[in-house]
Amino acid sequence: MTYRTLHGWAIGTLLEAGAITECEHHGYMKDRSDPHSWERAKAIAAKERFNRTTRDDRLKAIDDVMRSIGDTCPECEPEREEK
Ligand SMILES: [Zn+2]
Repeated sequence: MTYRTLHGWAIGTLLEAGAITECEHHGYMKDRSDPHSWERAKAIAAKERFNRTTRDDRLKAIDDVMRSIGDTCPECEPEREEK
């Protein structure tokens, strides 16, 4: 898959690693709170190249995405969240 922005690439990498998941009902990204998946995403980001970004750029993008999303979908009622 190709991504146009570093932000998009970071989301794709986190999805691929299983660190985040997309709400099947609303399309919001959710943090799966899985430290192993997050570590895997960071390992990919450190190794894989994206355009002319540096390793630090990519790791920062991963952190930015993780900080910007919650562990629940804002439109799903918490008690109805499927685990
Ligand atoms: Zn939802």
